[in-house]
Amino acid sequence: MKRSLYREYRPQTFAELVGQDHVARTLRNAVETDAVAHAYVFAGPRGTGKTSTARILAKALDCVGPDEAPVERPTATPCGVCRHCVAIAAGTSLDVIEMDAASHNGVDDIRDLRDKIAFAPVDGRFKVYIVDEVHMLSNSAFNALLKTLEEPPANVIFVLATTEPHKIPETIISRCQRFDFRRPHVRDIAWLLATIVERENARPDDERGGPRIDIQEAALEEIARHSQGGFRDAIGTLDKLITYSDGVIKPSDVLDALGVTDADLLFEITDIVTERRAAEALQFVQRLANDGTDYSQFLRDLLRHLRQLFLLQHLEESARDDVSLRALGQTVELDDQLLSRLLPQANNMPAREVVHFIEMLGEAQREIRDGLDPRLQLELALVKVTRPQLDHSAAALEERLRRLEAGTAAPPAGAPAARPAAAPVAAVEAPAGAVGFGEAATASAAAEPPEAELTLERVKRAWELILQRVQASSVSLYAMLRDSRPSALDDGRLTVTMQSDFALTRARDAGNAELLAGAIAAALGQPLQAEFVPATGAPAGPAPAGEASAAPQIIDFTALIKQAKGTFDAEEMPDDS
Ligand SMILES: [Zn+2]
Repeated sequence: MKRSLYREYRPQTFAELVGQDHVARTLRNAVETDAVAHAYVFAGPRGTGKTSTARILAKALDCVGPDEAPVERPTATPCGVCRHCVAIAAGTSLDVIEMDAASHNGVDDIRDLRDKIAFAPVDGRFKVYIVDEVHMLSNSAFNALLKTLEEPPANVIFVLATTEPHKIPETIISRCQRFDFRRPHVRDIAWLLATIVERENARPDDERGGPRIDIQEAALEEIARHSQGGFRDAIGTLDKLITYSDGVIKPSDVLDALGVTDADLLFEITDIVTERRAAEALQFVQRLANDGTDYSQFLRDLLRHLRQLFLLQHLEESARDDVSLRALGQTVELDDQLLSRLLPQANNMPAREVVHFIEMLGEAQREIRDGLDPRLQLELALVKVTRPQLDHSAAALEERLRRLEAGTAAPPAGAPAARPAAAPVAAVEAPAGAVGFGEAATASAAAEPPEAELTLERVKRAWELILQRVQASSVSLYAMLRDSRPSALDDGRLTVTMQSDFALTRARDAGNAELLAGAIAAALGQPLQAEFVPATGAPAGPAPAGEASAAPQIIDFTALIKQAKGTFDAEEMPDDS
């Protein structure tokens, strides 16, 4: 029978638990100070070591040490060779009972368990019950379990493992000590895989059952990146690659084995969307079809890519140097190499377009689940994000209203100068003379003669353009300013009204006013000092009766747009045109 690397390299001691230091430390201390709880909840994603940790705890409690060095009491460093350690590791100990609640979730199973609990441990100091996927228990089974936890018998420890702790009744949780298992970082998983390869290669050939493993470090990282934080999945993938590949294992082998999308494709389609190249987006889908791509997998991978851009755009403010940039990469589970590729794209794509793209793809996923044609749904989503004028969702309307308010329809930087196919649509939608969706509006805002008097109206019209300049130098300031409005211009001093206290406080950080002033100068050809003020008074929309005055007003654009949707056409005519 083929060996399983996962079983073989399952952690056997607290020290071998990777990425769960907080759990290992607390449990070790509890064992050393005789402070082990009667019941634990181990919560966390699959494959993060919950059951392995439960078994290590059981060994720590029951280990009697090797003959030459017997131990009289529980030990934080179980020996691994005594009869208890061996039996627990093999899953044959009579004192460690593992139960899968997914298949044994009835009240009879728990009653049966309670009856058995009445008996003292067979051989060890403690009896340990490990209930996996405990959230699957029926209500009556939970009640039976609760009775047991209310009067815990001596020398019995419960470990309740779950991937969905919110489904466990509070009455149970409150009687347990809870540990949350984290998804390990990509580098932790890659390190563990490298360790396994090293240990495998150190074995004699006949024991290993195959040639030496030759795998590139980048391939290990690729496996780690796609394991979604699960050791089990990562080691399983390594196992599969070792079995089926001959010669050196490269990153491309990993992508093939997992059926995941090459990162280059994800960067490419995101660029296409940012630059609003609808026809190329459709050609891109044709290429996917030619390659026999699984659209559902592609959607998942693209969503993961966009999530990383989204996180970067909103975390970037904390990363001003290399060290904090690496810390940031860990937050979003990225290695440095991918991070340095993602950052320019995150800086180039307006934050709200990333959000919109994510929403469109999410919608496509739902439609595909409902049985609609995957390719068509992907094509629809891509056309909607590259041609917002075809999209009548609230988010798209909000985007259009925002542009109208700003009096400009600036396309993102790098957009082609002409989009002939879009023109007829814009002409139908925007009444003649309106400042609409075409490029003319942008051109006029950008090309206004510098010597013209700078009025608040001009700043307002060019606001979208100014924000894009801001975004080019600081995504974080851009994020704070997205919902802001230029509200007054007096003697070369521009007042910018911020919609939230949070954004206001952050915007007032050193350097931001200068950055905005620079963007204004670049967009309008004239310098202006900028000052950030809190929003006072009522929002632009009808205020809800009663609660209008107390809290700071934040305009809910989505609700506003929904309200205005019926009469939207009438509102497309900006006041100042
Ligand atoms: Zn032992």
